[in-house]
Amino acid sequence: MNIILFGPPGAGKGTQADNMVKNLNLHKISTGDLLREEIKNNTDLGNKIKSKIDQGLLVSDDIINDLIDKILFNKKYYNRLIFDGYPRNLNQAKSFDLLLTQYNQKLSCVINLDVDKISIIKRILGRLVCSKCGLTFNKYFNPPQKEKYNCNLKYLKARTDDNKKTIEDRFSTYTKKTLPLLDYYADQKILHKIDGTRQINQIFDEIRSILASLET
Ligand SMILES: [Zn+2]
Repeated sequence: MNIILFGPPGAGKGTQADNMVKNLNLHKISTGDLLREEIKNNTDLGNKIKSKIDQGLLVSDDIINDLIDKILFNKKYYNRLIFDGYPRNLNQAKSFDLLLTQYNQKLSCVINLDVDKISIIKRILGRLVCSKCGLTFNKYFNPPQKEKYNCNLKYLKARTDDNKKTIEDRFSTYTKKTLPLLDYYADQKILHKIDGTRQINQIFDEIRSILASLET
């Protein structure tokens, strides 16, 4: 089955995608990774991408479609893909449908990790990282407890790039861009909303049960 995962920055999408890769034998596709890979491998497409980025331009939908085309063509991934960060707009979503048909595959479901703005802000601003050992905590959701934590509290630092305004802007941009896509997949009756404010394992259990219900 092919799956799309949506969720605002900070919703825990990466964690859930990794869980799915590990437990469900799926491959994760992130267009950011694909772009970097092409550039690294110095392909014709990679050079095209690099020149766009160097000029400060956005990578066009056509280029993204070419990358997705290559992935769907690859038998190794046949019907075993999780898309993270793709499609980004309706144009890409429609091309994706055409490509899926062309390669005789289908999109089984679209999972939307639903997290409200306030929770996202708390989650990101509450992140604490120990500068000594790299352990991470969250002031609100996973406070540093003595039994898990040996370093001095003075090593615990919040991420400096995570200020409230930036998080709010990212959240609004994401919501604005993604709403039309959610409508598009709701119309296709393959959209599943999950409450992303719960515990990581509760969310994963729900993902599992959604996927199980599709297999029968
Ligand atoms: Zn530490």
